[in-house]
Parts: sequence; structure tokens; C-alpha cells
Amino acid sequence: MRFDVAVVGLGGMGSALLAQCAQRGASVIGLEQFARGHELGSSSGKSRMIRKAYFEDPAYVPLLLRAYDLWRELERETGTELLLLTGLLMVGEADCEIIAGAGRAAREHGLPLESLTAPEIRGRYPTLTVLDDEVGVYESDGGVLDPERAVEAHLAAAAMAGAQMRFGVALENWEATRDGFTIRLADGTSVASRALILSLGPWFKDALERIGISIRVQRNVQAWFEPATDAYAAPHFPPFLLDRKGLTAPLYGFPDFGDGVKAAFHSYGDLTDAAHVVREVNLARDIAPIVEAMEQWMPGAAMTLRAAKPCLYTLTPDCHFVVDRHPEHSRLILCGGFSGHGFKFAPVIGEIGADLALEESSRHKIDFLSLRRFARK
Ligand SMILES: Cc1cc2nc3c(=O)[nH]c(=O)nc-3n(C[C@H](O)[C@H](O)[C@H](O)COP(=O)(O)OP(=O)(O)OC[C@H]3O[C@@H](n4cnc5c(N)ncnc54)[C@H](O)[C@@H]3O)c2cc1C
Repeated sequence: MRFDVAVVGLGGMGSALLAQCAQRGASVIGLEQFARGHELGSSSGKSRMIRKAYFEDPAYVPLLLRAYDLWRELERETGTELLLLTGLLMVGEADCEIIAGAGRAAREHGLPLESLTAPEIRGRYPTLTVLDDEVGVYESDGGVLDPERAVEAHLAAAAMAGAQMRFGVALENWEATRDGFTIRLADGTSVASRALILSLGPWFKDALERIGISIRVQRNVQAWFEPATDAYAAPHFPPFLLDRKGLTAPLYGFPDFGDGVKAAFHSYGDLTDAAHVVREVNLARDIAPIVEAMEQWMPGAAMTLRAAKPCLYTLTPDCHFVVDRHPEHSRLILCGGFSGHGFKFAPVIGEIGADLALEESSRHKIDFLSLRRFARK
């Protein structure tokens, strides 16, 4: 059988791509090298932040607005709660990337964002240590996604729409044929499809480097702590982003939803690759810097380590995603390089990938995610 679309890699993005293609009536197959629900890629760790006032670039905002709607649709289709609106606190000096960038995105797109002075932040969250030259912005639309449940919900939606799936089969190579692709798998079988979508997460490094995009895979440790106080429990305490001068990297985290306060540095960690990443956590190297930064910001939050786990960022040179057709094969769609901030977009990436695989073009403005931008630079 020849499928309309084959999606290789069924993590955060691939599961959404599979669901979106299947829901349009296409015959689709999803192929994944590991077991369903594995935790070896970039889409595990119990929580992912979602926000609209996007400091990284206001061009993402229309995609985010659509993603919020699609997350809610997925919840209705599958009867699963995936997105919890909690509000989000961002703190730093007024001109730092996060505060200035969030403000710019909010102004350009008319998004509600509450500005807070240092005394106002302290008044609202008395246990926090806020420096005198820091300010805050509070985004009431900020929230938290459950990544494991979200991947499973997208796979369930794909199955309900008729998608086939195979787990434990790695893509070895693909070949363009007269009318599509032959996909050869590690178990010796092959699959034929008219369009092929690659959503390989950190395993994308080689494929993207072959077309000239240099990729860095970064080992990023997320840690959960038992707090010494209930001041950091949800729902009274929000997820946060702290862009503090002198910190190794921005610090972010989530309140205690019952399994501890979660914290990590954004875009900080050893460079590695998906095949050789060190999965063990080193207390001195990985955890001590997080505890120290947390102590200076949320005293008592990182009291006792409960769990820690490395996860992988797949960083493009400008830290913006790659969502585009392959330069030589118009039906080969590349969705990768999500640079440590992609999860919240998964359903809209699914929609864009389905547009590119099944239609002439996408309804969304995605020029800023194209491969051409690297050539322009
Ligand atoms: C610690 C951490 C915190 C993060 N926090 C946030 C956040 O708060 N908000 C946010 O929006 N984003 C966040 N991100 C980023 C987000 O999680 C990722 O951008 C997103 O999960 C990437 O999804 P993916 O589908 O590209 O990769 P993955 O989920 O890793 O999926 C890739 C899949 O492809 C499969 N695969 C690879 N090669 C093959 C092959 N040859 N054959 C078959 N299958 C293959 C893999 O096994 C894997 O299942 C965070 C990331 C990390 C690591």
C-alpha cells in the first residue's frame, strides 16, 4: 500500500502532524524508532510552558493564538485535560530580552500583559527575592501543558481518524521516487508514500546538517524539588521566567502541582548528540547551580531534590524553528530545530505540516521559519 503521507518521528511534533494529516482524510502512517510513550527525546518532563506575549519574536503570536485553540479542540476530541491556564510571571530588568521582548509582542498584537514594579511583585509573592532594579510582567493567559499526555492525545486522535502507526522501527534512509518516497526501515521493511514528513527532534542533526543547517543538541537538566514551604504551590504561585543579570542563563520553573517545584535553566547545558547523551544526572554539575539560583530567587523552594532528568534541546543557529519543504523535494517536509521552545506550538505545527504535505501552501505565515532565511544571512 502507498500512503498519502508518512510521518517519521512520533514525539511532540510528529504525533500532532500525524493527527492533523489523518483528520483531513489522508491515508497516513506514523513511524517511530522507540516504544510509544518513551522518554528519550525532547517531549517529556511533566510540564511545558505556554504563553502568548512571545519574547522570542512577535511573529510567533498568530501561531500561538491558533495553538491555544487547537489544544482546546484536542482536549474536546480526546476527553483529556492538557492545558491548564495558571498565569505566568516574568521578572528581569526592564531592558532584558524576556521583559522587553514580551512587552514588544504584547504591544504589537494587543495582548493583555500586566506590568509590575519590584515592590508590587514582592507584595504579591512575599517569599520571592526581587532585586530593586527588576520589574515584572504577568501574563494571565500563560499556562502549562502536560507533554506526555499531549503526545498520547495526538496519537489517540490520529488513530481515531484512521492513521496507522508502527513503533520500534527506525528510519534508515529514504529515496525519492517518481511519485513520492520509499522509506527504508531498520527491520528491513519499507514504506511508500506520496509525501514524507520528518519530525526527528534531536535526531534531526544529521539530516539538517546535510542541507547546510548547523544544529547544536544541548543536554538540558530539569529538576524537581520538595519545597520547605507551601508558598510555591499551585494555584497561588505561577510558573515563572527569571532573566536575572549574573545568572548562567535564564531560570524558569513551575509551582508545585503535587510532584514538587520544577526548575531548570533555559538553553544551558553541554553540547552532545542524541546517541551519546549522558542520561545520568551529576549532583555537583547539574543540580547545584539550579539550587543556588533558586535559593537566590525562591528561598526554600529547592529544599530537597526529588527527581532530575536530562532532556534535549535542538538548537538552530538563530534559535527559530525549521518548518519548510526540503529544497530539492517539494513533498518532503522538514519540521525540526525547535530550539527548546517548540512544544506549545505542536498542534499548529501539525496543521502547517499537513498544509505543506497535502496542499499547495500553508494558511499560516511561516516565512520566518523557512530554510531560505539561512541563505539570506
Ligand atoms: C528540558 C526542556 C524543557 C522545555 N520546555 C519547554 C516549554 O516550557 N515550552 C515549550 O513550548 N517547549 C519547551 N521545550 C521544547 C519542546 O519540548 C521541544 O521543542 C519539543 O518537544 C520538540 O518535539 P520534537 O517532536 O521535535 O522532538 P521529540 O519529541 O524528541 O520527537 C522526535 C521523535 O523522533 C523519533 N525519531 C528520531 N529519529 C528517528 C528515526 N530515524 N526513525 C524513527 N523515529 C525517529 C524519536 O525517537 C522521537 O520520538 C523544552 C525542551 C526541553 C528539553
